[in-house]
Amino acid sequence: MSTPVPTVFVSHGSPMHALRAGATGRAWSALAMRIGRPRAILVVSAHWETALPMVSSAAMPETIHDFSGFPQELSRLRYAAPGAPDLAQRALALLAGGGLAASANGCRGLDHGAWVPLRYMYPDADVPVTQLSIQTALGGPHHLRVGRLLAPLAGEDVLVLGSGHMTHNLGEWIQALRSGRAAPTLEPMLGPAATYVDAFRGFVGDALRQHDDVALAEWRERAPAAARAHPTEEHFLPLLVAYGAAGANPAVERVFDAVDSAVLAMDAYLFTPSA
Ligand code: ZN
Repeated sequence: MSTPVPTVFVSHGSPMHALRAGATGRAWSALAMRIGRPRAILVVSAHWETALPMVSSAAMPETIHDFSGFPQELSRLRYAAPGAPDLAQRALALLAGGGLAASANGCRGLDHGAWVPLRYMYPDADVPVTQLSIQTALGGPHHLRVGRLLAPLAGEDVLVLGSGHMTHNLGEWIQALRSGRAAPTLEPMLGPAATYVDAFRGFVGDALRQHDDVALAEWRERAPAAARAHPTEEHFLPLLVAYGAAGANPAVERVFDAVDSAVLAMDAYLFTPSA
């Protein structure tokens, strides 16, 4: 049997990262170089929310431009990777095997949470990709469970990629941009973190390294400044799926830790399944 593929979490940044991702883009490229080229990729993005899990079975997923107010140039970008209908069926079977109702969606394409980092990770768009939705109303325990049910994929040469944000207070981010420190058309302003951002991601990093699944499941109640770090929960949950999909007691490595405009933590994690 081949070595299991690590699972990954990335903080995908604003859609502008598709054009200029600076140090973040370099980190994403380096991460993919380290992982190598998997047979297929399953992306769990913050930008696809459904009541029950859905997996895209599209043969040629379209590039979804799910944002507005950004330069036209962004709307012309395409990430033309083939779909992975076979992987979609496999994911559905794994979820069903764990008693989770889930369904296929033949029309769903790739949202910017998927294709922005993938442009840097696999720029040739030659690895088949599918997406799995999140269920924001179901919280931490559900997403850990979804991840755990998908853990066999690591042994099947599939990369599970969670795409969200370590912290995601857009109101504070826009305020930082307006204060003149940066503008959305420029490369992200990477620099020191606000105190609460470091407290939140410190808690999460410790819980991941200690395999404290209870603390992770109850992150909303237990992590310091959780409601400020995530006024809504959807950008955090893909992290729990990626961590869960590495199986029990994975090696946990933070591979990127920059912060955009003091408040958007861009942390990326690599989870290597234990032998
Ligand atoms: Zn996002």
